[in-house]
Amino acid sequence: MAEVREYSNLIGGELRPATGGGTLDSVNPATGEVWAKIPRSTAQDAADAVAAARKALPRWSALPAAARAHVLRKVADVFAQNAKELAEIETTDNGRIISETAKRDVPGMTYLWHMAAAECGAAVEGKSVILGPKSMGFTRREPYGVVLGIIPWNSPISTFSAKAAYALAAGNTVIMKPAEQATVSTLRLGELLREVLPPGTLNIVSGLGEEVGDALVRDRGINKITMTGSTETAKIITRASTDALKPMDFELGGKAPNIVFADADLDAAAEGITTMSIFTANAGQVCVAGSRILIQRPIYDEMIERMTAIAKNIKMGDPLSLETTMGPIASREQYERVTSYLEIGVKEGAELVFGGRFGAELVDDEAYAGGYWVEPTLFATTDNSLRVCQEEIFGPVAVAIPFDTEEEAVAIANDSTYGLAAGVWTTDLGRSQRMFRDLQVGYVWVNTYRKIVPGLPFEGMKDSGYGHDSVLANTRERSCVIEH
Ligand code: NAD
Repeated sequence: MAEVREYSNLIGGELRPATGGGTLDSVNPATGEVWAKIPRSTAQDAADAVAAARKALPRWSALPAAARAHVLRKVADVFAQNAKELAEIETTDNGRIISETAKRDVPGMTYLWHMAAAECGAAVEGKSVILGPKSMGFTRREPYGVVLGIIPWNSPISTFSAKAAYALAAGNTVIMKPAEQATVSTLRLGELLREVLPPGTLNIVSGLGEEVGDALVRDRGINKITMTGSTETAKIITRASTDALKPMDFELGGKAPNIVFADADLDAAAEGITTMSIFTANAGQVCVAGSRILIQRPIYDEMIERMTAIAKNIKMGDPLSLETTMGPIASREQYERVTSYLEIGVKEGAELVFGGRFGAELVDDEAYAGGYWVEPTLFATTDNSLRVCQEEIFGPVAVAIPFDTEEEAVAIANDSTYGLAAGVWTTDLGRSQRMFRDLQVGYVWVNTYRKIVPGLPFEGMKDSGYGHDSVLANTRERSCVIEH
């Protein structure tokens, strides 16, 4: 077995173990084996990270926008130069298959850091108004100060980048708290980025949410929180931070409807749904997973047939192999949660269309028998109130629901506590516009899925959160009126 490497926090430009030396195991979900150790940080580490970020703030925030952009472009280069290693770490740490991490995640983040660099100028643009011959008003934009980014395990490199790049572009210093289940890519980025970012500008502390995460959230030295994760944790963080009010952005869970109309290109819809939105899309562990597949009745049977045929060819196994099309569930805890829904669906009376198996029998290679494998699974029902239709499963489990009219599709789609994203498959342009207007979600894809474009806000509604990551969202705007 390969050596188990121990990673460090990044605080004030130094790589440090947790105070007291505590560590947590990082497990490779394809094998079930420990492959790395990460710091189990304490409240002292949280306080040290805040002190380091505060110390670095005056210099970083005072840099001209062009100078900050120059540094961020060097960060983009770090992603490009270390693309292979970063992709392999992400794949080993959370099971996201190599074709996703190497072809989508890491190159996408190089692009995102360049985009953030290009937007540094927007962070220092204000507006002015002439109020009369001797009076004018104007604004100035300023960074909030120290921004705390809290990120989930399902897509660490992407969420790290979306939070750190825009906050730094706006002149904030940053503390990043990765999820304990998949931390290694963030800690490796700390090692690489300390070579290009001034000490204290970016700090990374790993550990448990209820320990170091809670200490950071309560710290009065944090000026803004941006968190991506579950709705439940967002509520805990909101309650914990009430002693020291701070702005917060929450990008949370979802239960996205994927609506297929009879006029759609059915080849594109079946392929797009089973590969871009659920199942092979990180084994369904994506916040925008289109896990409620609403199908218009005249094409219902045909769509089910097409999706069944595509799902049959999904190949599980070594996530580092380009031939593998679906990886494991990222942690044992999540595996148990996902498999519990296989039972819940059957008990609730949903029809099992395909899938339903889990465990070692799904992989040929003995080396992966200890991994967390779940078969792509499709239930069918006419009752959108079932738990498998309402609760975020966050795995390769979807449910098909038939509908007759456009109005009915909208009603079923909106009958959810979540409001993150939706897919619409139609060739009718007018209908696509009406659906975009009527669906209570932040992001709609028509005839495509999961194209999250830097520059277009990604913001949920209802229990899917509020706020989004952008340069302007990391600034406050102050006003002044002058008379002379
Ligand atoms: P989670 O809520 O369990 O954890 C998210 C982060 O919060 C982790 O870093 C965790 O350590 C931290 N945390 C937990 N308790 C805390 C506390 N008391 N104080 C401070 N920090 C605390 O979420 P997860 O299981 O890591 O991720 C899965 C969830 O994330 C799903 O609901 C998914 O839909 C959502 N998600 C949303 C988006 C989006 O952009 N909307 C993207 C990816 C994932």
